[in-house]
Amino acid sequence: MNLLIMGPPGGGKGTQCEVLIKELNITHISTGDMFRENVKGGTELGKKAKEYMDAGQLVPDEIVVAMVKDRLSKPDCASGFLLDGFPRTVAQAEALDATLKEMGVKLDAVLNIAVPREKLLERLTGRRVCRTCGATYHVLFNKPKEEGKCDKCGGELYQRSDDTEATVNQRLDVYEAQTQPLIEYYGKQGLLKNIDGDQEIAKVTRDILASLKR
Ligand code: ADP
Ligand code: AMP
Repeated sequence: MNLLIMGPPGGGKGTQCEVLIKELNITHISTGDMFRENVKGGTELGKKAKEYMDAGQLVPDEIVVAMVKDRLSKPDCASGFLLDGFPRTVAQAEALDATLKEMGVKLDAVLNIAVPREKLLERLTGRRVCRTCGATYHVLFNKPKEEGKCDKCGGELYQRSDDTEATVNQRLDVYEAQTQPLIEYYGKQGLLKNIDGDQEIAKVTRDILASLKR
């Protein structure tokens, strides 16, 4: 199954992906994670991306599109993938359509996770991520068993540098201006599954899995 998950920053995409990739046995492709790995590794791509990420802006389309195109060509994508955080602009969506066409691959569904904006600041400023395995927690809504430590691998939890109040507001403005138009774009293609993301994590997962059976 080839899926795309979209929604605002803090909507719960990464959290849902952790479960969905196991349940559906597909490969997770998160462009945000790919950029963070490049920043950590000090690559040229990481250096370019970091300026935009810290400013709460989108990395230019041509950089992201080239990175995703390369990732989709890897063998682990052949049995299905879950794109997370890409596309974020109409130009990226058009480039994705062209790439998938070239590959002879189709999207099965686009999951649109909706959460009211007023909930997102608290979700993002309280987010903590495992430095080792990337698992996502929240200081109030999804606490690890032991503070500061990952339940899954024991790794150290940290706060992303772009999860500060000022950057979050900028990211939410960028989402509304540049990414929200994709809801209409995929609606027209008949692929959209609207999911209420303002519910407990396990219920959101159940709704997603049920939407894929319909
Ligand atoms: P995204 O990948 O869409 O940016 P995340 O999955 O990282 O979002 O979730 C953002 C924050 O909100 C995390 O701290 C996560 O633990 C928390 N979270 C995710 N889903 C829910 C939910 N349904 N209810 C409350 N908090 C949630
Ligand atoms: P995320 O982890 O999805 O919240 O992404 C973190 C940051 O990475 C974003 O704020 C952007 O700066 C950058 N980024 C991730 N995916 C994309 C994309 N598809 N297009 C442009 N920038 C992106």
